[in-house]
Amino acid sequence: MYNFFAQNGKVNGEYLITGGDFNHIKNVLRMREGDNLLVSFNGVSDLCRIKSFLVDTAVCEVVEENCVSSELPITIHLFQGLPKADKLELIIQKAVELGVNEITPTEMHRSIVKIDAKKEDKKVLRWQAICESAAKQSKRNVIPKINAPKTLKQTLNLLKDYNHVLVPYESLYGMEPTKNSLSKIKKGDKIALFIGPEGGFENSEIELLKGAGAETISLGKRILRTETASITALSMLMLYAELNI
Ligand code: SAH
Repeated sequence: MYNFFAQNGKVNGEYLITGGDFNHIKNVLRMREGDNLLVSFNGVSDLCRIKSFLVDTAVCEVVEENCVSSELPITIHLFQGLPKADKLELIIQKAVELGVNEITPTEMHRSIVKIDAKKEDKKVLRWQAICESAAKQSKRNVIPKINAPKTLKQTLNLLKDYNHVLVPYESLYGMEPTKNSLSKIKKGDKIALFIGPEGGFENSEIELLKGAGAETISLGKRILRTETASITALSMLMLYAELNI
């Protein structure tokens, strides 16, 4: 079923959908009065029926409140070592499908790309659009947030707000730390996940992160590309949460 994100909450059991989503519902999907769709607002999805179309608004009445939740029992913030542009777009799309809640592109020593401050706003808007369409496609209840890029140092003082700071590190050998870190994750926990850029982490960066409470983990004996590492680490957390929490 199609899932749309409302700009405003329901009033008298009805959501009013306007703008691009109205156009999508009426002219692209050619939905009609009486058709069902999911409408999400504030992390809750309601099953709705299209009651009527006004000039620029679809009036959707709620049939069943709070009917599905596709969200994980944990929240995950991905701090992605800034990779080349096309890779970041792929990572955003896949991370949203896998249940991420927030992404901060993070500039690290070995990031090849540097963000041009003048183009930053436009980029964030583009990333947010990718995020929104992936959220719709994967039937998320929330649209994950993409932040403006930060340097690794700027992220460190945010980390006290997380229950776990996990850093898959390519130079760590053995799966014991991974098992250990996963086993400590509980319902409702907030997780910060750091992935290095194409060139990997510098040892000094690992030390900084450890100083801020991070745990290094391994994703196995093979060296993964940054995009594979992000997708693997998120898949691991997603399945762990779905299976055990
Ligand atoms: N160029 C580096 C690899 C960087 S891989 C080298 O050749 O050594 C990019 C990022 O993916 C790493 O910084 C790490 O965060 C993650 N990663 C890749 N493979 C990993 C593994 N086997 N275990 C843990 N993290 C890994």
